[in-house]
Amino acid sequence: MSVSLCVLRFELTEDDTQAQQQTLTNWDKRKIMSCRGRRKSRELTVETYSRVDATTPIEPVIDENLKKVEFLKKSNTKTISSKGLKKKNKNKRNHGENVLNPAEQINFISGNPFVEVTKGVLHIYKENKLTPVENASSHSQMICILSVPSNMNCHDLLTFIAACQENIHHIRIIRDAASLNQYMTLISFRTQEATMDFFHSFNGMPFNSLEPDCCCNLVFVSKVEVMKEYEPGSSAPPSQHTELPVCAVCLERMDESVDGILTILCNHSFHGNCLTKWGDTSCPVCRYVQTPEPIQDNQCQECHSSESLWICLICGYVGCGRYVQGHAYNHYLETSHCYSMNLGNNRVWDYVGDNFVHRLVQNKGDGKLVEGSSPGKLDDTDQKIESVQLEFTYLLTTQLESQRKYFENQMKHFEENTFIETNKTEAKFKKALKENEKLQKIISDTSKDTILQQKIDENQKLSERLNTITKEKSILEKKVHNLKNKLDEECQINLALQKNQKEWHLKFSNLEKDFTNYKITKDQEIGELKEQVRDLMFFLEAQNTIDKSVNRDEIVNGSVIVEQQNPSGQKKTPKNKKHR
Ligand SMILES: [Zn+2]
Ligand SMILES: [Zn+2]
Ligand SMILES: [Zn+2]
Ligand SMILES: [Zn+2]
Repeated sequence: MSVSLCVLRFELTEDDTQAQQQTLTNWDKRKIMSCRGRRKSRELTVETYSRVDATTPIEPVIDENLKKVEFLKKSNTKTISSKGLKKKNKNKRNHGENVLNPAEQINFISGNPFVEVTKGVLHIYKENKLTPVENASSHSQMICILSVPSNMNCHDLLTFIAACQENIHHIRIIRDAASLNQYMTLISFRTQEATMDFFHSFNGMPFNSLEPDCCCNLVFVSKVEVMKEYEPGSSAPPSQHTELPVCAVCLERMDESVDGILTILCNHSFHGNCLTKWGDTSCPVCRYVQTPEPIQDNQCQECHSSESLWICLICGYVGCGRYVQGHAYNHYLETSHCYSMNLGNNRVWDYVGDNFVHRLVQNKGDGKLVEGSSPGKLDDTDQKIESVQLEFTYLLTTQLESQRKYFENQMKHFEENTFIETNKTEAKFKKALKENEKLQKIISDTSKDTILQQKIDENQKLSERLNTITKEKSILEKKVHNLKNKLDEECQINLALQKNQKEWHLKFSNLEKDFTNYKITKDQEIGELKEQVRDLMFFLEAQNTIDKSVNRDEIVNGSVIVEQQNPSGQKKTPKNKKHR
């Protein structure tokens, strides 16, 4: 078994005037305040009990440290006052003049405790390195009982540890006003053996047989330190240390497997009942968890988002998850508070281990705390399965986580690139717009020119056409003129022809008349000729008949008397005479 050694730190509150003397920048103050978170400076009481026969004086916790910082001593003495009981004079104690308190009839412890009261915040840090239990006492002879229920008074406690009384050097009871129902007890031993003895005897042992669940949880404390609030480094954990919740319930929330200190806590059986009883409302985390209904003002302290909220187990800071704006993670980066609990399901995330480390989750039914898993209650095989499952889950979680980181990086790169690209393109676009405007101006100018040019061109064309048309016109005019001339000629010819025609008409009519006249004369001539031909024919015939007739001689000598009455006969006779 290995454990983590712890460091206890009292961070003492200063008033503002002192803070100003420290010449802190606003940034420093801001960082200190963010580490403080929702924790408030409370009254811290340290009661120191020493043995009656103590031979060496016991230094007060707070004063002892102040001696190292001499100039702060005066201012701090104001805050330290005796509480009901008188401060014990060291010299008197050394002389053995102690008077036993009747209420505490335990003779090995001095009766009147040495009481110191101050204001501040109590811190507990665990060393990141684990130390085997058997070596722990060589580093530390101081053991702390993390939480003793307040119903156990000093007498009860001293009785409880009476078995180891011989080797106890002194006991300090640390009461934090922030948690009224429990207190812390620091026990210093004389020897390493005694330390180991005590650890083995009492770790995980119930304080009371009536409440077997309520156990004594022990851690080795390597150092108790006191720091002023604004002292440099007061808000940061000691190197190689991680801050733990002071609240016992919150400590119990975390998984023992990743946390050395809780290896011790897991040795006792689960004591949910007493944890619930102890979980006083002054712890901001427990207050959130114990409120059955979601608190109205449940929101990220930075961006007021109400989604995916995580509460810091150390200081109670509420921030949004990494898928909102990652203020919870930023809080871890700023303060090194590495345990954060999801407010929805009470699962605890460890930013250093980068995995879930919750051990207790809230019962959905009644809102009470229940144990997430309890390896102690399972048999070996179940335990193996459990551990394999855990291992597997862890592997899966880490791998998924690394993938998520990878992709988130990629997204980031991509976003950056796109952002740059968009900017570039925007610039280009603007340039292009300007150029466009210029070009449009030029175009408008040139378009005017071109229109003018076009018009001029058109004009030229038109004038050319006009020229050609006028030429054509002149040609046509010439033609017309020629044609007119020809027409005139034709007209004259026509007139001449008309005259000729008339002349010819006249000639023709004359000729016709002549012809008719001629015809008539000719016809008359023809008629006469025809009569002559007939007469002739008649004569010839008559001659023939006379020749042929026997009387021919008679006839030839004879005479023919032609009656005078027939003119034609008369005529014939002459004619006959003529042809004879
Ligand atoms: Zn308990
Ligand atoms: Zn708590
Ligand atoms: Zn936020
Ligand atoms: Zn915190």
